[in-house]
Parts: sequence; C-alpha cells; structure tokens
Amino acid sequence: MCGIVGVFNHPEASRIAYLGLYALQHRGQEAAGIVSVSEGRLQTHRRMGLVGDIFDEPVLDKLPGNMAIGHVRYSTSGASAAKNIQPLVFDYSHGGIAVSHNGNLVNAQVLRSEYEAHGSIFQSTTDTEVIVHLIASQHEKDLLSRIIASLKRVEGAYSLVFLTETKMIVARDPRGWRPLVLGKLGDSYIVASETCALDLVGATYEREVEPGEILVFSKEGMSSHRPFLDPPKKAFCIFEHVYFARPDSEIFGREVYETRKGFGRSLAKEHPVEADMVVPVPDSGVPAALGYSEESGIPFQMGLIRNHYVGRTFIEPTDQIRHFGVKIKLNPAKSLVKGKRLILVDDSIVRGTTSRKIVDMLREAGAKEIHFRISSPPTRWPCFFGIDTPNRSELIAAQQEPEEIRKFINCDSLAYLSVENLFYFNKNHDEWFCDACFSGNFPIPLPDFPDITKVKSDKK
Ligand code: 5GP
Ligand code: MG
Repeated sequence: MCGIVGVFNHPEASRIAYLGLYALQHRGQEAAGIVSVSEGRLQTHRRMGLVGDIFDEPVLDKLPGNMAIGHVRYSTSGASAAKNIQPLVFDYSHGGIAVSHNGNLVNAQVLRSEYEAHGSIFQSTTDTEVIVHLIASQHEKDLLSRIIASLKRVEGAYSLVFLTETKMIVARDPRGWRPLVLGKLGDSYIVASETCALDLVGATYEREVEPGEILVFSKEGMSSHRPFLDPPKKAFCIFEHVYFARPDSEIFGREVYETRKGFGRSLAKEHPVEADMVVPVPDSGVPAALGYSEESGIPFQMGLIRNHYVGRTFIEPTDQIRHFGVKIKLNPAKSLVKGKRLILVDDSIVRGTTSRKIVDMLREAGAKEIHFRISSPPTRWPCFFGIDTPNRSELIAAQQEPEEIRKFINCDSLAYLSVENLFYFNKNHDEWFCDACFSGNFPIPLPDFPDITKVKSDKK
C-alpha cells in the first residue's frame, strides 16, 4: 500500500508532487518523501508522518527544479524504519538515482540473497532496493536498457517512478497489478497512482501507463517503450476497487464510485433481507450501501457518524477502565437506529474485530436486528502484491466459516458478495484481475514465500 507521483517539466515540480501526494494520502499514512532535481543534483526530503505535517513552504523551497518524484508509504515490505522511507536515493557509478515504488515483489529475497552472496551491502530492508542493485550491476550503457534488463529479473507488482539528474522514467509491471496514470498540465507531464491526484493539481487525465510500458521523460520529451514480449494475462488488483482506491478515482479504466455502487446492487440481489434501513460503515461502506439501497428500495441512512479528525495524536487516559476503541471514530445516531432493523454494509471484513465492536455499539443504541452485508467475498488469503493484509492466522475468514464469523461478530445474519457477482462488470475477469485475496488463485509463483503454497494445497 503506497502512492507514487512523478512530475516532469514544471517550474514548481516539488509543489505539484506535494499536492499529488496530499491527494494520495489514503494510500499510505506512515511516511512520505519527495526528491527533486536542481542544478544537476538530487534534493531529498523524507520523514515519518503525514504529507501535510512533513512539508511546508521552507521545506519545499529546498526542493527546487522542474522534475520531482514522491511517495507515500504504508509499510508492506520492510519494517517501518526511517531508512525504508521512499523515494530511495542512491549514488552509483552513473550518478544519482531515486525511486518510488508501489506494489510488492515476490522474488526480492531470492535476488537479495544472490547479491549479498557477492558482497552487496543493502541500506534498507525494502524489496525496492533490489531493483536499484539490479540496475547498478547491469552492463548496458544507457539507463533505459539497464532498467529493462533489471525489470526482466523481478517478479511481482510494481508501479515505479525513477528520477536521475536528467531523466524521469516510469514503469508498470506487465500484469498491471497496481494502478498508474498519466496526466498533462500545460507542457508538463504528471504520473500518479490515481486520477484523484491529477484532479487536485488541475491536470487532464490522458491515459493509464499501460501494463508492461516504460515511459522515458527527458529533454527530448516523452517516449514509450514496451520491452516485454508475449504480454501475460493482466492481474489488476480487485481490492483497489473494493477498498483501497479513492472513490473519486478512475482505476483500470473504471470509476471506483460506480464500481462500488455496483457491488452494493449485486449484493442486494444476491443477499436480500427485510429491514427498515440500509446503514453504511463510513467511509468505506458508503457507495456499496447506496447501491444496496437503490436496488432494494430500502432507505439509506447514516446510522453511524464518523469523526473525521481522528489522528495519531489521540491519547487514551491511562486510568480509564475501558478502551475507547472504535468509539473514537464511529458513533451511532441513536434516535435513528433505535428499534429498527438494519442492513449494515461494509466493504470487507479483515480480522473481524472492528466489525464486532460496531455491531455491539449499534445494539447498545437500540437496533432491533443487524443484518451485516459485505460488498466483497470473504478475505481468505494474504496479499503478496502490495495490499497490507495480515497473515493468514489473523484473517478471520481464513480460519472460520461465515456462520462462525456471524456468531463472533454477533449480528443476526451475515452474507458476503460472491466472486462471480463481484465481477458483475467483467465476465472474463480471469484474464484481467487478480482476486487471490478472495480465491487463493495467485497468478504467479511466489519464490519468496514458499510456505503459502503449502498452506494453499492443505486447504479444503
Ligand atoms: P475488521 O472488522 O476486520 O476489524 O475491520 C473491517 C474494516 O477494515 C472495514 O471497514 C474495512 O473497510 C477496513 N479495511 C479493509 N482492509 C483494510 C486494510 O487493508 N487496512 C485498513 N486499515 N482497514 C482495512
Ligand atoms: Mg472501513
């Protein structure tokens, strides 16, 4: 889970990158960074924390130049240490290079061990650094050829933006796991994980960076390269549409908001129930709840109100007997839900712990019945391609059947959208999407994770 941005040929490149990251903050709240180029040198600012806290005018003044790349991080690979904050920046025999990466490689450990055996010293614990070691050790003269040779050795998910003193280079893996879009702002080019970043800076959305495509931005302008012969099936991450992307973005050529409403409509058809109102778990459950309500004709109500100002700085009084838990974030609208039969809609259940507390809270507020409806299938498998799902042992649906989960969550009924109805918009989804978190069908082998295949074959 990360967001990336790249800005080429703009006099205030770092400020545009900053705004792009601001729009992508939902993709990672742990750390952020920007690297710009001025007077032939890479300038870097990276910190733990939120974009708005890390950058201010004086900091951005120290990031001049007309090219910049940025990153927001939600640790997926590598511990959450300062040395892992991206963009990673290196000096090597050809000069400086910085890189922002969204996605996760599945053979980085194997490659890293190979390099370490030959004496390489790694500075971080991220999978991304492997790409830089690969680039540095290629013999081709030009950077593009070195990047191509390197990317042919890595397996897994990557949307990448590189920056050197003279070029910005952008790459998306041949399966297109993570989104990456191209925009234009006057004579400048912007690349970003999601279109919502283009909207904020006033750029027009041109197109996706295609799976397997590499774009080079230099003083000659933009050039496109497609070095992967025999393009494989695509593996667009369906969880981007279910949960991760912002609903105002267009991802893999589809509007996220519309897709989520469609999940809700499918859910209402697949799992109808009599009730007085449809209530979303905000914010992630809202579009699906609207779709459920439209399809079923049962009124939509904001039965749960969210505090939008919850931050990391919240301190629970230590002498308090009870933890505030989910109450910090959500509170029922009591007069609304009292005595009522609710259809509670959320996008997914991961551990089940939040869902359980929400149901408790609604019961305390006097709800008569709570029918929980989930706008995606049970999350049974961890993601190895960049979504921060917990281990199998912590995923409730990997351990329990829906009826047991219902008992744990203490709702009156529980139903999930089926994989078939999740893909209501694409009957050939096997050719286009990765749904491994739901189906266990991992599109490629996982060299760094030999155990998962064992777990998988044990599954009933
Ligand atoms: P649970 O009941 O499993 O504890 O929490 C379910 C909630 O977690 C849902 O509202 C869902 O939107 C949210 N969720 C799903 N995936 C993720 C994730 O990867 N990270 C975070 N922080 N929340 C998630
Ligand atoms: Mg949620």
